[in-house]
Amino acid sequence: MNATAPRDDQSQAGIRLARPDVGAEELEAVAEVIASGQLTMGPKVAELEAALRTAVGTAHAVAVSSGTAALHLAMLALRVGPGDEVLVPAYTFPATANAVELCGARAVLVDVDPDTFDVDVARVAEAVTPRTRAVLAVHLFGRPVDWEALQTAVPQEVALVEDAAGALGARYRGQPCGALGLLACLSFHPRKIVTTGEGGAVTTDEEELADAVRRLRHHGIAARGDVDIAEPGFNYRLPDLLCAIGIPQVERLEELLAARERVAAWYTERLEHLVLTPAAAEGDRHGWQAYVVQLDRRDEALAGLRAAGIEAQIGTYAVNRLSAYRDRGSFPGADRAFARALALPFAASLSEDDVDRVCSALRRFV
Ligand SMILES: *Cc1c(COP(=O)(O)O)cnc(C)c1O
Repeated sequence: MNATAPRDDQSQAGIRLARPDVGAEELEAVAEVIASGQLTMGPKVAELEAALRTAVGTAHAVAVSSGTAALHLAMLALRVGPGDEVLVPAYTFPATANAVELCGARAVLVDVDPDTFDVDVARVAEAVTPRTRAVLAVHLFGRPVDWEALQTAVPQEVALVEDAAGALGARYRGQPCGALGLLACLSFHPRKIVTTGEGGAVTTDEEELADAVRRLRHHGIAARGDVDIAEPGFNYRLPDLLCAIGIPQVERLEELLAARERVAAWYTERLEHLVLTPAAAEGDRHGWQAYVVQLDRRDEALAGLRAAGIEAQIGTYAVNRLSAYRDRGSFPGADRAFARALALPFAASLSEDDVDRVCSALRRFV
C-alpha cells in the first residue's frame, strides 16, 4: 500500500506544501544540454550568471551548488575565520549559522522581531564586539530586512552580508535584495521561487570577492592566470544541466513573483483578521519564498491540516534550541516564532479553491 495515497476514494487530493514552477521549457533546456554533451563547466553557467546579474543588478553573480555553499564561500571570501564573530539571527534555517561555524568562526545569535521574523536591529547593535567581522542578515521567507537601520546599527568595518536564499525578486525600498550587502547568497532549492533542484549563487559588486568565490568553488584554481593553487578550494560548482533549468525561470522571475503575490493576497484576504499574516514593510516588495502565518494553537493546526490532506509545515528553526547552538543566551523572539509559525501550502500553481480549502481547515484552530 502506498503510504501517501488518499485513505479512501471519496477524499480530495492532497495539497502539497510547495510545487516548483517548472515544465516544458525547462525540459527542453535540459534536453539541449544532454544533446550538447557538455554537462558541466560549459556555456549554461555563464548564461545563468548573466540572467542573475540582470535580475539582481550586481556586477557579478557566481553560480554554486547550493545556498549553503553560497553562504560558506561568502564567509571564506571575506576571510572570516577563527577568532571572528558573525552575527546571525536566532530564527533562521540553520545553514546560516552552520556556514559561519564551519569557517572556524563563532555564530553569535541575535534575537528576531517575532512579528516580522527578521533580525531585531536594536539587538544587532548590542551584539557588536571588537571581534565582529560581519552580519549575516536573513530576509526570512522573502521579507526584506530594514537595511538602512541595519547599516546604522553597526560600525562601518563590519561587513553586511545578505542571506537572500528566499529573497530573489524581493525589493527593499525599490532596490533588489541580493544587491544590498557587500555579498549576497541565493538558493535554488525547490522551495524557493527559482529552482534548479539544488543550487545557489553569490552576488556582489566587488570583483575581488567574486574572484575569490570563483576560485573556491573550483578547487582554488583561478579562472585567469597560471595553474597554481594559492589556497585550497572545494568543488561547489553548479553543472550546466542544472543551470539550464534555472535560466528560463530567472527570465520569467517577474511573472513567477506576480503569481505568488496573487496567491499571498488570497490568503491574506481570508486570514488577516484571524491570525498574524505576513507582509513586507511599507514601500518594500516581499519575495514570497513561503507564506507563514502565526497562531497560538499552531501544533493543533498543523496536525489538523495534515489530517485533512494539507501539507503544512513549521516556519523554520530556533537555532538557539539546537544542541549545536545551546547555551548562547535567551531568545524570546525566536522561541515565540518557533512555537507559533505555520507555513501554509504555497506555490504559483495553487488555485483560489485550494486556498479556500486550506483557510477553512485552518479556521477551526483560531
Ligand atoms: C533555503 C535556505 C538556505 C539553504 O539553502 P540550500 O540551497 O538549501 O542550501 C539558507 N538560508 C535560508 C534563509 C534559506 O531559506
